[in-house]
Amino acid sequence: MNSKASVKFNEYGVPVSTTFDDIYFSIESGIDESQYVFLKHNGLPERWQNLKKQECFTIAETGFGTGLNFLLAWQQFLEHAPANARLHFISFEKFPLTVQQLQQAYALLPEVESISSQFLSHYPSPEPGCHRLTFAEGRVTLDLWIGDVNELFPQWQTQAEHKVDAWFLDGFAPSKNPDMWQNQLFETMAMTAHEGTTYATFTAAGVVRRGLNDAGFAVHKVPGYGRKREMVCGQYQGQVVKPETQSVDPQTDSVVIIGGGISAACCAFSLHKRGVTTKVITPNLADGASGNPQGAVYPLLHAEHTPLSRFYWQAFSTALNTYRQYVPEHWQASGVLQPAFNEQREQRFQKVASDLYNETTVRYLNAEETNKAAGIAIDTPALFYPQAGWLKPEPVVKSLFRQAGSDIVNHNVQSISQTTEGGWRVSLSNGESIQAKRVVLATGHNFNELLPADVEPLPIKPVRGQITQVKTTTSLAHLKTVLCYKGYLVPESEGIHCLGATFNRGEKDLATRLEDNEDNLKKLCDNAKQSWTEELSVVGQRASVRATTPDHQPIAGMLDRGLYGLTGLGSRGFTSAPLLGEILAGLISNDTLPLTDDALARLSPARFRR
Ligand code: SAM
Repeated sequence: MNSKASVKFNEYGVPVSTTFDDIYFSIESGIDESQYVFLKHNGLPERWQNLKKQECFTIAETGFGTGLNFLLAWQQFLEHAPANARLHFISFEKFPLTVQQLQQAYALLPEVESISSQFLSHYPSPEPGCHRLTFAEGRVTLDLWIGDVNELFPQWQTQAEHKVDAWFLDGFAPSKNPDMWQNQLFETMAMTAHEGTTYATFTAAGVVRRGLNDAGFAVHKVPGYGRKREMVCGQYQGQVVKPETQSVDPQTDSVVIIGGGISAACCAFSLHKRGVTTKVITPNLADGASGNPQGAVYPLLHAEHTPLSRFYWQAFSTALNTYRQYVPEHWQASGVLQPAFNEQREQRFQKVASDLYNETTVRYLNAEETNKAAGIAIDTPALFYPQAGWLKPEPVVKSLFRQAGSDIVNHNVQSISQTTEGGWRVSLSNGESIQAKRVVLATGHNFNELLPADVEPLPIKPVRGQITQVKTTTSLAHLKTVLCYKGYLVPESEGIHCLGATFNRGEKDLATRLEDNEDNLKKLCDNAKQSWTEELSVVGQRASVRATTPDHQPIAGMLDRGLYGLTGLGSRGFTSAPLLGEILAGLISNDTLPLTDDALARLSPARFRR
């Protein structure tokens, strides 16, 4: 788990860090201070008025704290920037506040009330790493990095190279928090700066002025806010041009996405947020692994922090932010329970819930609490994921494509080949072909079949899975949460529960099997050992094929110039796809990405080509 903020509220209601003995914002007025120090002295909002079409303005901040600077920037950006420009706010926080602490702080900030309440309902469970959230129909992106800037910057700065337009330096006073104001900070600022980059900070301490000056920034002393005599601001003096957002002309330059499942839908949706149009080629929408009637969404937590579980809890934040906001009618925030159906699991679960994760991520329930949360008898302890839930895959996929405005082409793709102009030709089963500069292959387990001849295949393995639908019963109708054991059982929808799923490695057969239904039922009976598992009647079944990779990490990245791959999402596609969509769209648009360099390398197709 991350370090927690130790906060008290003073007699004015202003939050004060007891660790650093310093205030989060000014006693006079947090809003006016933020407006004066950080916006005004970075030339904002005026600079936003001149942004180009599709341009992304990037702010990086040290010390997210209550998020006041973010909320104010969000509010003013929407007021002043052209409708087709985006704000990317990247903030780093070592000691995240709890929702309750934020709520209390926001009581002092009525000016941003409508925005702060939205933000609070999406505040992620602050596990270490980056939480990518988008707001205002994708015009505002927040990357909230939880961790120490000294550890995070080296893993982030290369992809942010020359892309930051303004720095907000808002750690506590250098005298009280010297660790944050190390050379590393000023070096990172210089590395991520271009010739138009500005910064502002509330402090005028010598160590800060010297650090900024040595790193190549002009240092101007100006009057400070409130009781602060002086503050400093300035511009980067190096002659480095800001890298262009890759220009994608919406009229002539649609990105072609091959595939009709959740990964393709999220990619289309993330591109749409960046003003990029998409042409989606698929015989049918959501007819593969994304077509089951119900699907659970929850993070994968190990009994120690592993890169895999870190990826999934970061992805989980983006998934929640996406489903709650864009498809609320198909999202059920039911919570997910993992009952400890044997002693070994009980021990492992105790370890997971000890002090590795926040209570808002996962907690350990005793048998009585488990029964209460489940709504039916489970009679064993369990891990409970309070923010998790389930959704209806097919309508989610269709809605995201619809909201993305994707042009859907209902054909099979026969082949992909390079054109003489360096783009791609996608040949369809009806003899027609579509040309595009950028193509995303999101074709699940069929991924290798469509790769152009000179692109090396990837080690994707098919895993067949059959789900069984059972009619609800008097007792099972009370089930409130998803139950995950070796299989899973979802609360009823229109009187029917989804019970999953078999796991047939290497198989692609879509015909359903009676014995698979028996398998699913037996797994439930053997694990739960409750009377409600008896006499369940089967009313339907469905088989599909998941795409898996040897290291269990999905694949998202560039395969060749202008050709991208998005596959290997296994059985957790609805948890990982929203973040993966952001990553692919970010690669295409040349954005700063929401993962460390190491984590990106673990997703890249290049990891299999060493
Ligand atoms: N911008 C904030 C706001 O609007 O509320 C105020 C930030 S507060 C003055 C400084 C923040 O820096 C605190 O939240 C603190 O936990 C964070 N911080 C201190 N040292 C840090 C470090 N080494 N890495 C990341 N964050 C740090």
